[in-house]
Amino acid sequence: MTFSLPSSTFPLAGWGAAPQQSCVVFRPERETQIQEIVSGAPTHSVLARGMGRSYGDAALNQDAGIILHERFDHFLAFDDKAGILTCEAGVTLSDIIDVVVPRGFFLPVTPGTQYISIGGAIAADVHGKNHHLDGTISSQLIDFRIITGDGQILTCSRNENSDLFWATLGGLGLTGCILQARLQLRPVESAWMTQQSLRCRDLDTLLQKTFEEDDLFQYSVAWVDCLARGRSLGRSILLRANPASTKELPPKIKEDPYRLPQPYRPTVPFNFPSLALNNFNMRIFNQLFWMNHRDHQSPKPLREYFYPLDRIHQWNRVYGRPGVSQYQFVLPLESCPKGIQDILETVSESRGASFLAVLKKTGPANEAPLSFPIEGASMALDFPNRKSDLKPLLERLDRIVVQYGGRVYLAKDSSLGAWALPEMYPALNQFRDVQRKYDPNKRFSSSLARRLELLGSA
Ligand SMILES: Cc1cc2nc3c(=O)[nH]c(=O)nc-3n(C[C@H](O)[C@H](O)[C@H](O)COP(=O)(O)OP(=O)(O)OC[C@H]3O[C@@H](n4cnc5c(N)ncnc54)[C@H](O)[C@@H]3O)c2cc1C
Repeated sequence: MTFSLPSSTFPLAGWGAAPQQSCVVFRPERETQIQEIVSGAPTHSVLARGMGRSYGDAALNQDAGIILHERFDHFLAFDDKAGILTCEAGVTLSDIIDVVVPRGFFLPVTPGTQYISIGGAIAADVHGKNHHLDGTISSQLIDFRIITGDGQILTCSRNENSDLFWATLGGLGLTGCILQARLQLRPVESAWMTQQSLRCRDLDTLLQKTFEEDDLFQYSVAWVDCLARGRSLGRSILLRANPASTKELPPKIKEDPYRLPQPYRPTVPFNFPSLALNNFNMRIFNQLFWMNHRDHQSPKPLREYFYPLDRIHQWNRVYGRPGVSQYQFVLPLESCPKGIQDILETVSESRGASFLAVLKKTGPANEAPLSFPIEGASMALDFPNRKSDLKPLLERLDRIVVQYGGRVYLAKDSSLGAWALPEMYPALNQFRDVQRKYDPNKRFSSSLARRLELLGSA
């Protein structure tokens, strides 16, 4: 049978805007078309893509096939007694929130943006501000359906094709194309959170508050000022929260506790010139950020607590045309205080390489061989790509992370060398075995997989 589905070839990038690579893009509308692309598209390999919110090259496949999921955005079933949702892989978390919160449910695990697809969330095994208590998205995932490289459509769960279930979580699209998923949602009493904001004057205070008091809060995240040095190294604002019960809400909100406020969402209209994000401006910004956050407790709409960056449409343009590299690492419990200090000192010595970082406590790892979180603490730093000495700096950070027994988050990575992958992900060969079992001809691949030699050579 000849292959007849249309495609367009154009440059694509991730959220970080670099690298930008030419890909052969398909927009299927039916599962049978995805099957046709997987089995017959005349490209050396194919890869699913969701909302393109991974920062680097995880959702790129240079000079090869990309399967967009924008037309797989349907809700298939919702059991509003049990809180079980079935939807296609292209449905976004934002779509889910709009539908389920007014019915009294929320996502048990959600990352820092709501504009990602369910397929992308599973493929990155995303974690949120409650990883220390609730794990990754795997904990809410009942099962999913997937097309594998040998053309089969399989259902995967903890009991059925469980090797493929775990390899797909965090497998970055390399085990197949997820078609639909079933999720267990969590009941909530309102669309609000009770947020406590706490200023921590240095790294020791931040880690002490994060580790000693975090079980009091379901959600916890800290914004760390990377320009602070010396005794102020690690100066940060810790934002912790619990879902608000109706009792805690002010009377006006109590009248309609599930109403989701729709805030005005301005757009960054163009790529900012590189001068806009200089050291001087960012020092002022960080100082204002610090001064604006007094220690206090208040109700917050859940979207404001979970997704502060989403309030500005296309905020990544503030980094200008060269874009941004986000470097997220996690270090094990025992080594994280010293390791984070080393990394912050290295970054702060590099004079303005990164302005702000996000720190989260992480709980125990799950069974997925390429899942990112391990028990300890994770930190994400944004580096403007315009910095000429960024590559050597990131290589230094990779070595520090390996030295302390940590790993880098592949869904955000664009720079790691292949040498580091087996050091950071010791279960890599387990992943490769499962991947090979379901895709013996390596029909699925990505630019990231080739850069990191993730699929091995055999
Ligand atoms: C502002 C911001 C905040 C973030 N915060 C967090 C956070 O707190 N925690 C966290 O864990 N992550 C976080 N991320 C990363 C983000 O959640 C992941 O990169 C996620 O995978 C993006 O989903 P997507 O739909 O955009 O997927 P894409 O970026 O399009 O793809 C990501 C990967 O998923 C694969 N994929 C996509 N759809 C499918 C499918 N249907 N079948 C198989 N594979 C598929 C792709 O091949 C690719 O490897 C954040 C990203 C941004 C931009």
